[in-house]
Amino acid sequence: MERTLSIVKPDGVEKNVIGEIISRFEKNGLKIVALKRIKLTKSDAEGFYAVHKERPFFGSLTDFMSRGPVVVLVLEGENAISKNREIMGATNPEEADEGTIRKDFATNIEENTVHGSDSPESADTEIKYFFNALEITG
Ligand code: ADP
Ligand code: MG
Repeated sequence: MERTLSIVKPDGVEKNVIGEIISRFEKNGLKIVALKRIKLTKSDAEGFYAVHKERPFFGSLTDFMSRGPVVVLVLEGENAISKNREIMGATNPEEADEGTIRKDFATNIEENTVHGSDSPESADTEIKYFFNALEITG
């Protein structure tokens, strides 16, 4: 059993597809073991995406991530990290496979609707960024 952090980004919340996105996780056998709708400050977004702080899109990405509410979730299941990445699709929606969340909902490479942890280490750090132990129940 593995856990991963998912975020429905501000564009996904604005498009009113929170339920459709969560339903894809469930249909693919991932269980939601924690969930909340919050609004990040610019500084929260900068902290979360600190690994990207040298990238040219960091300012724009953190403006986007703090412009409106997001939904953060912890998904649990076998190979949850890679399974979630498959359900999400490629970072750039133009390169995303048919039937993936990003193919179906993303606006562009930045406003790409969902986040998913990319390794066990990042999943652990990212889950702790948003949830304490009492908020996660398997
Ligand atoms: P992923 O979310 O697929 O793991 P990255 O970790 O590489 O992708 O990037 C983090 C986020 O930064 C992306 O999901 C996207 O919102 C944004 N991003 C990535 N590349 C670009 C880019 N070239 N221009 C603008 N935003 C980008
Ligand atoms: Mg990433």
